[in-house]
Amino acid sequence: MIRFSPGRLALVALLWLLASCASLKSSSPVTTILISIDGTHPKHLARLSSGTIRGLIDAGVQAEALLPVFPTKTFPNHYSQVTGLYPSGHGIVGNRMYDTVTNKRFDIADRVAKQDSSWWWGEPIWVTAAKQNVKVATMFWPGSEAEIQGYTPFFWRPFDYQFKSAQRVDQVLQWLDQEPDLRLVTLYFEESDVAGHLHGPTSPEFFQALQRIDGHLGALLSGLEERNRLSRTNIVIVSDHGMADTSAKRIVCLDDFVDAESQWAGKSPVLMLWPKDEETVTKLRQAHPHVKVYGEAEFPAHWRLTDNQRVAPYVVVADEGWTMYNACKIGVPKINPGDHGYDNALLSMRGLFVASGPSFKNKVNIPAVNAVDIYELLCHLLSIKPAKNDGSLSAFSKALRDLDAAEAP
Ligand code: AMP
Ligand code: ZN
Ligand code: ZN
Repeated sequence: MIRFSPGRLALVALLWLLASCASLKSSSPVTTILISIDGTHPKHLARLSSGTIRGLIDAGVQAEALLPVFPTKTFPNHYSQVTGLYPSGHGIVGNRMYDTVTNKRFDIADRVAKQDSSWWWGEPIWVTAAKQNVKVATMFWPGSEAEIQGYTPFFWRPFDYQFKSAQRVDQVLQWLDQEPDLRLVTLYFEESDVAGHLHGPTSPEFFQALQRIDGHLGALLSGLEERNRLSRTNIVIVSDHGMADTSAKRIVCLDDFVDAESQWAGKSPVLMLWPKDEETVTKLRQAHPHVKVYGEAEFPAHWRLTDNQRVAPYVVVADEGWTMYNACKIGVPKINPGDHGYDNALLSMRGLFVASGPSFKNKVNIPAVNAVDIYELLCHLLSIKPAKNDGSLSAFSKALRDLDAAEAP
């Protein structure tokens, strides 16, 4: 495998700079690879002082953060990034959901539910692209396993956590060989999220997972370079949310407050509740000072949670770092040292955004961007017309070459 030393990355940056001038004039299309490093906060990247990601940051654009949507879970956030919609609009309001109209339940581990189109509202980027004859492949991404509006990505695979990160990189390169005209490919890594949950976000194991992912990205860039594609490839790296330190010392036992007659959806630290009666709510509100129960009228504005068949009249959220459990009487389980799902305004829940390539300027820092802005950015990079969405391209005006009056052709 070719390793990307700082000098080599400077060369890559130069290649991208030259290519950006050339590609604006020539018709050679640029491909974008959208990479998600699940559960990674920008401050974690700051600990990578060398390597591929560091080189990409130094060569390109880094946002202060990527502001996640509520709840700060994997499925709602990844699907907001590719649709530009808040969860109430795209329908994926949690990793686990209950739909009061269809009476169906959704769980990210349930393949039948994931492939059931009725869960997925809105228009993900691969559907917007397919409608405009632009090819997109997904090396895993929430939503990509269902047919949406009659479309699937050009290439996709059913999610399989055993399909290793290195195989995912190889698959992306193979797809590019098979169909050189792919304009967008997504690539998903969960090693970081798994290590963050099991060992905590400040653990050596989490850092090692990031270093492994950094190595996979090095292999990706090498593969692109071997194919003479690197100079016309944009690399956009995001994460869906950050990770908070949790502890067995911060557990809330809800045994006496979770009744079987009420309808529940979700898992700590965020639950949706359709209570059987007001008494359930009153009791729950008094359950513990580190658990908050919000009625619909009290939902914080930044959640953007609006009434629909999957948004319960009550949302129960633990304070940062606290874990709710409902069977302590049977025995308190081992509590993982890391978790997310908390209020999206918390600094610890922030995600990351880094981008490098011919469409991006060099060495630019921009303020925080919203998860819903990613769809607009991708549509812009693919030169396709976006569907109606909640995002905006304006956050990237200082990051994109063609939006900068001084550099535009
Ligand atoms: P979370 O509980 O929100 O941290 O979810 C992260 C986990 O979701 C990862 O560890 C993955 O195993 C899993 N995951 C990610 N993408 C998918 C997918 N497309 N289908 C099923 N599970 C997924
Ligand atoms: Zn996640
Ligand atoms: Zn997670």
